[in-house]
Amino acid sequence: MEKILTGIKPTGKLTLGNYIGVLKNIRALQDRGECYLFIADLHALTLPIDPEELRQNSIDIAAFYLASGLDPKKATLFLQSSVSAHAEANAIFQNYLYMGELSRMTQFKDKSAKMKESAIGLGLFAYPVLMAGDIVLYDADIVPVGEDQKQHVELTRDLVNRFNNRYGEVLKMPKPEMNKVGRRIMSLSDPTVKMSKSDPKGDIFLKDDIKVIRKKIMSAVTDLGSEVKYDPENKPGISNLLTIYAAMKDVSIEEAEKHFEGKRYGEFKGEVADAVIEVIEPLQQRYQQIIDSKSYLEVLKEGAQRASQLANKTLKRIKKAVGLLQIDE
Ligand code: ATP
Ligand code: MG
Repeated sequence: MEKILTGIKPTGKLTLGNYIGVLKNIRALQDRGECYLFIADLHALTLPIDPEELRQNSIDIAAFYLASGLDPKKATLFLQSSVSAHAEANAIFQNYLYMGELSRMTQFKDKSAKMKESAIGLGLFAYPVLMAGDIVLYDADIVPVGEDQKQHVELTRDLVNRFNNRYGEVLKMPKPEMNKVGRRIMSLSDPTVKMSKSDPKGDIFLKDDIKVIRKKIMSAVTDLGSEVKYDPENKPGISNLLTIYAAMKDVSIEEAEKHFEGKRYGEFKGEVADAVIEVIEPLQQRYQQIIDSKSYLEVLKEGAQRASQLANKTLKRIKKAVGLLQIDE
């Protein structure tokens, strides 16, 4: 059975982009392979964050994973920081990834560009090192990601090649996998930038009031002309809304385009809002039940145990390969 690994950073409030990029696909993923889904809380520390917010965001991710259909009998849900193998793998792999390649990562360039140099943490720069460990510890075959994380998975592949060339077949080669529809949901107020939870701008948050969601969609930036057509270059706003609609309705972009043939922008937006609300409203109700019952706690505890078992096994293999003396064998 193939192993699948994917994570979300608790850096902010979950967005519709996170839902379309990851959460929506949970049911299919857990039926397809052995799934490891984690809350990347160590990664969330790479940018300044309030401790209470970090805790609340982590709980929310767990609850939204469960509300999206994660079945703890089928998939393993855990907090990155409760599996110490991640930090250990990081300490080892930082010696096999190089400054030059890390400084070329788009995420680092984007995020650090907005900061004063004296405030850029080493963790932000070394982010892909920690992430490479996250992936290889679970012998992951498939890493479902949005477009923004693809480059990091490619770098992990470079690391695996480098490491295996030197030490033999120690690490499993992972493959990034992207959705057909909704790889990169854009901001509703500026459709040239990604909807992103750590730098929210024109985001729809999964916890937004339903009325607010409708309002945000109805006032989304559109483009010149009046035709509802998928053309990301010339019609980024309309194309983004079409993508959201297609993802919510589980139809192709072509089918969505056909559905809106001859319709005006206003009517189009109304239907997009209906489609989003149809999915998000019941999701919010399930989320609330999970929060009230605190059922996520037991799931996270069991998940950490299961994840640790596999991660520690892989870590042993890695330590042995590089020559760290194993005295408990
Ligand atoms: P941050 O701003 O902290 O990077 P984010 O919203 O980009 O937050 P991540 O935690 O980086 O979220 O990513 C979680 C998952 O959601 C990843 O698989 C990522 O590729 C996916 N994802 C994030 N934003 C989008 C988006 N706008 N459209 C589609 N998928 C997305
Ligand atoms: Mg991101």
